[in-house]
Amino acid sequence: MSNRVFIFDTTLRDGEQSPGYSMTLNEKLQMAEMLDKMGVDIIEAGFPAASRGDYDAVYKVSQQCKSAIVAGLCRALHKDIDAVIQATGPAQRKRIHTFISTSALHMKHKLQLEPARVLEMIKESVAYARQHCDDVEWSAEDATRTEHDFLCKAVETAIAAGARTVNIPDTVGYSVPEEYGKIIAMLKNRVPNIDKAIISTHCHNDLGLAVANSIAGVNNGARQIECTINGIGERAGNASMEEVVMAFRTRPDILPYDTGVISELIMPASRLLSQITGFSVQPNKAVVGANAFAHESGIHQDGMLKNASTYEIMTPESVGRDKSDLVLGKHSGRNAFRTKLQSLGLNLTEDDLNAAFERFKDFADRKKKVSDDDLVVIATSKDGIPKERIRFIALGVKSGSFGPQEAELELEVDGEIKKAKATGKGPVDACFKAMRVLVRHDDAVLANYELKALTQGSDAKGEVNIKLSEHGHAFNGIGIDSDVIVASCRAYIDALNRLLAGRNVVPAKAKA
Ligand SMILES: [Zn+2]
Repeated sequence: MSNRVFIFDTTLRDGEQSPGYSMTLNEKLQMAEMLDKMGVDIIEAGFPAASRGDYDAVYKVSQQCKSAIVAGLCRALHKDIDAVIQATGPAQRKRIHTFISTSALHMKHKLQLEPARVLEMIKESVAYARQHCDDVEWSAEDATRTEHDFLCKAVETAIAAGARTVNIPDTVGYSVPEEYGKIIAMLKNRVPNIDKAIISTHCHNDLGLAVANSIAGVNNGARQIECTINGIGERAGNASMEEVVMAFRTRPDILPYDTGVISELIMPASRLLSQITGFSVQPNKAVVGANAFAHESGIHQDGMLKNASTYEIMTPESVGRDKSDLVLGKHSGRNAFRTKLQSLGLNLTEDDLNAAFERFKDFADRKKKVSDDDLVVIATSKDGIPKERIRFIALGVKSGSFGPQEAELELEVDGEIKKAKATGKGPVDACFKAMRVLVRHDDAVLANYELKALTQGSDAKGEVNIKLSEHGHAFNGIGIDSDVIVASCRAYIDALNRLLAGRNVVPAKAKA
């Protein structure tokens, strides 16, 4: 049995469908480009029958992808399967991923189908998919709570109908490693045609065991892991790709498995996803958290200076983390730019580098500080960072208990200075009303507003995260300032700039 474990990334499907994580088409393409570049074997790009947006994303990712297999998810229905066939049409390598629930609980309450009918549907759906595509994956939704005899029968049926990969999801994150490993071992032992398919894991993190369960699956014969960047996904998320890859890389003595993932691109991919979704990972997150390689205590620092392996089981460089203090700004030259990108794990061709350098100079002109996140986007996105069409200039507010609260906001909109006044329920509401006077975005609604203090004390800087939603698409913005009302405006402007990228701004009549 080969020790190669296939990495099936579902950041764009399972990850994207979790609350707050929706991405625009362009953002999905940026993410897919990164996943393809880092050597992911299969990219699940969406659920084409679910929405027009999902269909388009799978189609465009299929056009763009150079080496990874592009998969689309579908229920056991002809119309769902047809949607995947069409959406993955342009892909050089494609996969149909069809699923149905197999647990008694799901069959009775969700599907309202008899087990015998479910088996028929497995056979019909997989066989139909195989008529159109050689690479078919079948999933037993809620597999870990499925009665064992029935699970064996279902897996056997799927393989007999032509499934090349059988996925055994711990859909609700209920299993523990020993138990999950036993389920995989049981399938290996009891399903007569199991050697004709690759067994896949898809573990959720409700008990914090997704990665441990996935590894237990591999130890018992699974050879595909479904996972996501930063572990995003439904509820508590999926198995995190960076943890799986680095567990294999760090412990080949007891986990002798290989993936095709270029681990040096882990950090750039993690940053790109945070940048796109507006959610950063917690500081103590394994591999990609801000503190994952930080050493503060004296004893640890002393050990680190003598020999890094005293307290580090892997090097920061091996996951593409930056150790240098190179700070880039508008005076930086091409060489510094190239070195910095290399330190982030991004090795561009000469032509790509030149184009990225032009985008960088343009960006650095407008922003004082260029963060690593900005650089990843500048380097990996063909269009670079969308132009900031709206810029914050000044703000005055009247707040307090006397009311009404009032805001006077000054913005630069496409190079023109504009001012507006508005009243609202509180100063933030007043600011956002003024924003709508200055820039029309009538169909967009404020879907999320979060304020947190970045440091302690009454002089703490506030960070505001905002989400604007328009026709099912979400646009995230972040703003930081020591004045929380200004931070709110900056976050709103950031989100609005993403929303308006590439379209004509229709200015409202400004009340001067
Ligand atoms: Zn899932």
